[in-house]
Amino acid sequence: MASSSYSISPCAACKSLRRKCLPNCIFSPYFPPEEPQKFAIVHKIFGASNVNKLLNEVLPHQREDAVKSLAYEAEARLKDPVYGCVGAISVLQSQVIKLQKELDATQADLIRYASSSPSPPSSVLFGRSRMGHGGSSSASYDQNSVFYYPSPRSNETCGHTQERGDHGSI
Ligand SMILES: [Zn+2]
Repeated sequence: MASSSYSISPCAACKSLRRKCLPNCIFSPYFPPEEPQKFAIVHKIFGASNVNKLLNEVLPHQREDAVKSLAYEAEARLKDPVYGCVGAISVLQSQVIKLQKELDATQADLIRYASSSPSPPSSVLFGRSRMGHGGSSSASYDQNSVFYYPSPRSNETCGHTQERGDHGSI
C-alpha cells in the first residue's frame, strides 16, 4: 500500500532535481508536473538555486508573475542567445515610436483638413453678421464663426490650408 505522502506527484522541479517534494515546496505551485519543460528551460538559464532564492525574496502574491517572467525571459534567451527578450522589447519599442510618428502625422493632417473646409464660409459669415445686426438668426451665425475662426489662426498652417482649399474647390 502506498502511503499518503506519496499520493501527490512531485512538482516538475523536484522531479527534475530528483528530490522529495515536500508540502511546503516553493516550486510546486508554479511548476506543476504536467509542465516539465517550463522548469527545464528556467533551470537551464537561471539555475534552480537562483530561482529558489528569487522566489523567497518575492512576496507570495507576486511569485506567479515572477515565474511567468522568468519563463518568458528564459525562452527568449534560448531562442536568441545574444539579446534574449531585450531583442523583442527593442523591436516593439521601435514599432511604438514609428506608430507614434504616424499617429502624429495623421492627427496633423486631420487638423489641417478640419480647419481648411470651414474657413472660407466662416469668413463670409463673419462679414455678414457684422453687416446685419437686426435678425435673431445672425446671432447663431456669430456663434459659428467664433467656433471656426480661431482654429486656422492658432495653427500656423493658414497659408497651406488656403492653398489646398483653392485647389479643392476647382
Ligand atoms: Zn516540489
